[in-house]
Amino acid sequence: MMAQYLEIKSQYADALLFYRMGDFYELFFDDAAAAAEALDIALTKRGKHDGDDIPMCGVPVHAAEGYLLTLIRKGFRVAVCEQMESPAEAKKRGSKSVVKRDVVRLVTPGTLTEETLLEARRHNFLAALACVRDDWALAWTDISTGALHVLPLSLARVGPELAQLLPSEILMAEGTDDALSGVLDDLGLEPTILGKSTFDSTGATARLTQQFGVSSLDAFGHFSRPELSALGALIEYLDLTQKGRLPLLRPPQQEKLGNSMQIDAATRRNLELTHSLQGGRAGSLLSVIDRTATAGGARLLERRVSTPSRDLTVIRNRQDAITWAISDPMTARQVRDVLKRVPDVDRALSRLGLDRGGPRDMAAIRNALAQAEAISAVLETHDLPEILRSAVSSCTGHAELAALLDDALVAEPPLLARDGGFIAPGYDDGLDEARKLRDEGRGVIAGLQAQYSEMTGVSSLKIKHNNVLGYFIETTSTHAQKMMAPPLNETFIHRQTTANQIRFTTVELSELERRILNAGGEAIEIEKRLYATLSRAILDHQAALNALASGLAELDLATALADLATDLDWCRPIVDDSRAFDIEGGRHPVVERSLKAQGGTGFVANDCSLSAEDDKAAITLLTGPNMAGKSTFLRQNALIALLAQIGSYVPAKSAHIGVVSQIFSRVGASDDLARGRSTFMVEMVETAAILNQADDRALVILDEIGRGTATYDGLSIAWATLEHLQSVNKVRALFATHYHEMTTLANTLDGVKNATVAVREWDGEVIFLHEVRDGAADRSYGVQVAQLAGLPPAVITRARSVLDALEKGERENTSPKALIDDLPLFSAVANAPQPVKPAAESKIEAQIKDLHPDEMTPIEALQALYNLKALL
Ligand code: ADP
Repeated sequence: MMAQYLEIKSQYADALLFYRMGDFYELFFDDAAAAAEALDIALTKRGKHDGDDIPMCGVPVHAAEGYLLTLIRKGFRVAVCEQMESPAEAKKRGSKSVVKRDVVRLVTPGTLTEETLLEARRHNFLAALACVRDDWALAWTDISTGALHVLPLSLARVGPELAQLLPSEILMAEGTDDALSGVLDDLGLEPTILGKSTFDSTGATARLTQQFGVSSLDAFGHFSRPELSALGALIEYLDLTQKGRLPLLRPPQQEKLGNSMQIDAATRRNLELTHSLQGGRAGSLLSVIDRTATAGGARLLERRVSTPSRDLTVIRNRQDAITWAISDPMTARQVRDVLKRVPDVDRALSRLGLDRGGPRDMAAIRNALAQAEAISAVLETHDLPEILRSAVSSCTGHAELAALLDDALVAEPPLLARDGGFIAPGYDDGLDEARKLRDEGRGVIAGLQAQYSEMTGVSSLKIKHNNVLGYFIETTSTHAQKMMAPPLNETFIHRQTTANQIRFTTVELSELERRILNAGGEAIEIEKRLYATLSRAILDHQAALNALASGLAELDLATALADLATDLDWCRPIVDDSRAFDIEGGRHPVVERSLKAQGGTGFVANDCSLSAEDDKAAITLLTGPNMAGKSTFLRQNALIALLAQIGSYVPAKSAHIGVVSQIFSRVGASDDLARGRSTFMVEMVETAAILNQADDRALVILDEIGRGTATYDGLSIAWATLEHLQSVNKVRALFATHYHEMTTLANTLDGVKNATVAVREWDGEVIFLHEVRDGAADRSYGVQVAQLAGLPPAVITRARSVLDALEKGERENTSPKALIDDLPLFSAVANAPQPVKPAAESKIEAQIKDLHPDEMTPIEALQALYNLKALL
């Protein structure tokens, strides 16, 4: 057995081998040590190899999924090795034969299909990145839904595209990952490196035509060599990991870079689109806008948020769908109520396709078909916009399959096909009979007994059972004579004679006995056969079911976004191909929600007019104290643009947005220590990316750029950056800064204007109004903010004096240092701040010091108080 183990293991060196032994998957040697640690299970020993103990650990087969999940999450790959025959079969081949085993599947993060291993509301992408000479292509699939895409791109775009896709696993050819190590690190991706032959573009064509059963790929489009290479590598890898059982992939869909809004990794993080800066889904844009009822709808929304469109027709069609749902809330609610009961068709289908499904997946499809029918009944009489019309049409035309599944399956089938019990009674005569025999064996025997009594005229005849004879017919010797004479002796065969009784059997009875014994097994066999037939019937409808799943997801998303828009009072933005950016009463959906949750004074809506004239930039330079709401304002406008381009309504009173090609968002000196780079370096690398890439349709959000270095360096960099954006990139930009010096740029640069977030000063303290107004902030109120933050009063007083001196120095053109040195507090010792010297003790203080309350009676204490008062 060990020889067999080592032989199999040698083919899967980079994976843990789950070696099936009866009811356990066992791991040996280093695999055992690694798995025992990762899973926190006991490490034991079994036998010896080369004289040493063999370390071993194991997990029970019935609980294997949970362990698999932990291992995959911890970065392992697992080869699942099953027994390919029973021990009895092995014995037949020879008394010492080892049971045949083989790896049936290689489990990797990108190739999961099990419900328990996947997040229902998220896609799980497997990607392949190929390079042929200097041209790149990215192909990706979600094998749990069958979608397959490919995108040609340049090296520079690889990072942003991967950031958008966030694959669970990425395949690359050896050697190609060097150029991208920084990008991959940044995204926390560890590529799966495969041999160059896997990426061979010539072999890829053959692989693809075979996979899709076509003679040429022309039907799907014209593919470049890098595209073929990436697609081919995906298919080959699936073949390798699924051991030849390829998932049901849809034909490859070619994507184009220009179709979607470009958002790079830093911007995604910054805007907290799908994850908050803390890493979870809570606090992200997605968490606030997701009101979808189905897993398919949630996945569609996540994809949309990750890839907003630039296509006006697409955007307007999506808006039309939402507008319709808003205009007919009653119908929309009816649809949503049905959607809540719609199961995950895509994933059920893909599990069936990989033969990893079960009766519940079939029931999921049956239920989805029933719900789809209900939805089309609700909507069929309505005049619907295009997207919804085609969604509804995808819901119809499944009557035949629906009827089949309805008839064939029980209401609540068990998880596994192997135990049977999922086919409904009345569907298959053979099965019904087998079950009847199994369940009602005794009843059938009783029926036969009655039949024989009548036939022989012997009313005392009995059918009995014992372990030696099995079933037999018993009668008294007197009556038996009749049965041993013609014609009855043709039917009744003598078995045994006892003192008083004679026992018979019949061909029919022994046949019945055999069938009763086999009935249980037979029922299961029949169900297995029916399972395979049903599975085929479902898979024959794969394309239509995929369309149904997409249709239901569209319906879900449109009605969910309509519900959101109505509830939160969002508006339908005007999106066109101008370079307008005009928001009235805009709000930040996430901040607004958290303020509401805290029950505060509510969110202050703000306008943003950032429309650019032809061939010019439009830049608003935003100043104002910390905590005033600058970052919030910047981000809310980026989010409004993004929401508009996913086709959603937006959190504003009105919005007019000329299609945005790219959004860039940067925050100065964000803490990036975890990635081990200097924060200032990160900031500059990110800013460089904007200046090199932003085109005149980009929307740029810069928050305190230059903050990470010394004042004059920072100011100079911020200054030059803004000039470049204005004159070269010609973007629409919001630029928040605390460098007041920059506000003068509004006078000299065309298209640049100042705005500030208003605060009111009252009694030496600041009150934040959160209102964005035209004009520059007169001062930064940093000292007041520091006071709010709880700095000790002595420090605040000192800081005020220093600030006054600095400002006076600036006004009077004298050295502020001299003025600071002249301040009374530090006149004694120049330059070095000194602790404040305590004033001489007052009389009252001296008396209080002399009091010893523990030693005083109440009367004495009262008297002491009178004395103190007298000193005033
Ligand atoms: P800044 O970038 O100017 O330091 P932030 O944008 O981080 O300020 O805002 C600070 C806090 O002020 C936010 O956490 C939020 O609670 C509140 N705030 C910001 N904008 C608004 C607004 N428009 N209405 C109400 N509260 C706001």
